[in-house]
Amino acid sequence: MQKTISTSPVVPIAVSLVKARPVTQVRGACPHDCPDTCALLTTVEGGIATKVHGNPDHPQTGGVLCNKVSRYTERTYHPERLLTPLKRCGPKGSGQFEAISWDAAFKDIASQLKTISARQPEAIVPYSYAGTMGLVQGEAMAGRFFNRLGASLLDRTICSSAGAEGLSQTLGGKVGMRVEFFAESKLIIIWGSNSIGSNLHFWRYAQQAKRDGAKLICIDPRKTETAEKCHEHIALLPGTDAALALTVMHELLAHDWLDHDYIARHTLGWAALKERAMLWSPERAAAVCGVPAEQIKNLARDYGQCLASKQPAAIRLNYGMQRVRGGGNATRAIACLPALIGAWKHRAGGLLLSSSGLFPVDSAALQRPDLLAGRTPRIINMSTIGDALLKETSSGFGPKIEALIVYNSNPVAVAPESGKVVQGFAREDLFTVVLEHFQTDTADYADYILPATTQLEHWDVHSSYGHTDVLLNRPAVAPLGQAKTNTQIFRELAAQMDFDDPCFADDDETLCRAAFGQQIDFNELLTKGFATLKLPEAPFAHGNFPTPSGQCEFFSQRLAAEGLDGLPDHVPNYELSGTSNTFPLAMISPPARNFLNSTFVNVKSLRDIEGEPILEIHADDAARRGITSGAVVNVFNQRGSYKVVAEVSKRARPGVVNGLGVWWRKLGLSGTNVNQLTSQHLTDMGRGPVFYDCLVEVRLA
Ligand code: SF4
Repeated sequence: MQKTISTSPVVPIAVSLVKARPVTQVRGACPHDCPDTCALLTTVEGGIATKVHGNPDHPQTGGVLCNKVSRYTERTYHPERLLTPLKRCGPKGSGQFEAISWDAAFKDIASQLKTISARQPEAIVPYSYAGTMGLVQGEAMAGRFFNRLGASLLDRTICSSAGAEGLSQTLGGKVGMRVEFFAESKLIIIWGSNSIGSNLHFWRYAQQAKRDGAKLICIDPRKTETAEKCHEHIALLPGTDAALALTVMHELLAHDWLDHDYIARHTLGWAALKERAMLWSPERAAAVCGVPAEQIKNLARDYGQCLASKQPAAIRLNYGMQRVRGGGNATRAIACLPALIGAWKHRAGGLLLSSSGLFPVDSAALQRPDLLAGRTPRIINMSTIGDALLKETSSGFGPKIEALIVYNSNPVAVAPESGKVVQGFAREDLFTVVLEHFQTDTADYADYILPATTQLEHWDVHSSYGHTDVLLNRPAVAPLGQAKTNTQIFRELAAQMDFDDPCFADDDETLCRAAFGQQIDFNELLTKGFATLKLPEAPFAHGNFPTPSGQCEFFSQRLAAEGLDGLPDHVPNYELSGTSNTFPLAMISPPARNFLNSTFVNVKSLRDIEGEPILEIHADDAARRGITSGAVVNVFNQRGSYKVVAEVSKRARPGVVNGLGVWWRKLGLSGTNVNQLTSQHLTDMGRGPVFYDCLVEVRLA
């Protein structure tokens, strides 16, 4: 039994009357790559975190966490948590390490980096992504370190860059509706997203709208948990979203379901887009998208009639649809739709892909690009790290990569075409340092592994890409074992490298304050844990898009100036369904519900729910190959193969298999995972990966 005995503005304090151990609840933020950015409350008893809850005071979280993060203490106190620095003592990739002191590790690493940087600092490459979304433990001190060093820059493209670029070219940035107003929408199109699995708190708003009479339509090749709960599911072929959007435009035109006044005042390039859309009859789109023409017509009718009835129509777009060759164009085509029916005039109308562009983050104050001191290092694209690691020095590429510092990422598991990624990481002449919580597939290839703190052990501050609140994360418990924060690791490495710039002395609270400067009331973050951005309810009701023209740009002069198509179009996949007899099935690799990218795969209770790596396959495709549920199958193409358990499932449409990811290679059935098959091709915009543009064949193992 516990009783609250006092409160402070910051931390409510309670005491267990049974054990007389102090009990605190510490406010934090979920650090994971998820649009919901939940507010956490961690219960701490006697210095141990015993439970992580959703903060009920934070409206976007509503006291609810997903299944993954509600088990956060299991992850934090995992018996395999890395608690001491490790040095490799076996062959590369063998996973054999011995403990070493921090002092010795820092000296060895700095010595290697000094030698390489004396020759060519660009031969050193940072590799990081959204293992934490925190602005401080992400790229703050790390950015300072690599800028001061003059290391190669990293093009952080692996998740969302095609969609971000498409959105930016159309709406002017990563901007859109406020998520809470979806609760008032009368039509919600959930496009390329399994909200129940990866945007749970948006789904609560959609459910509210549904209870109030809204129609929900899901557009997704896979019949996800979300698709099952919508009124309608449009199971299009992967990579055909632009064709579908252009055909919706065709139908809006054909039936004059258009807000002529909004189009005239607040858009650019309508005459040209109209001509493009007229090329997309429902019959043509039906053949391309693999869905009935009637279903496309009905989608357009539902959308267009919201104009006639003056009801708000909203699109929740997510990044799944942009992981194909034409991902940027698809995003552009979809982002044009709300302007056509004037949906932006309603606060519950419009579109949301990402809200991250709304946050006034002062990245320069955090990462200090001025430390480059006029140098302009080459840029390495993280989505083609396999190829990059295998390149020799050349005038086009620059120096061969000699050192890789990996933090907040697990590229051996998550980067495409992992056969090449592994080959690169296995290079004996590559010096690799990995900052991690666990000995991941990537850490197996390290020369040094440095134990990093988790979100319960450090300060951080967070923006969001699914709502419009800033959140502060306070440390709930002391660092476990000898773990250090990312910031502290880069601080101490900087000292070993003799970088004496005063900015390396900034502590983490100072960095948290610098992230938003005066734009956010830091005292509000300290007392409440979150602060809501002050934004208009319907930001584009009167235009004012953050594009160069201030209009919704159907035609992008910026793209045209680059020699690209200024209008959105359907760009067929590199690996197009129906074009190969050898590899006749399209494969997508959406996340397994209990994993988040490759995080949580080693949390036993979550892996037990997932069981084994699964390939969902339609009954017709399975029957043709003699495959039944539970059979172990080989999935393969020209790049490699991996073994999975087949599940004959209505979640898979004919011609498309779903390889759920992202399993750690060493925890799968054959030491590889789905990325053994994905390619290093890049998207039409944003230089992103094309994970869902991949043809395969499946055979009984
Ligand atoms: S992963 Fe997403 S839903 Fe789960 S706790 Fe974190 S922010 Fe919330």
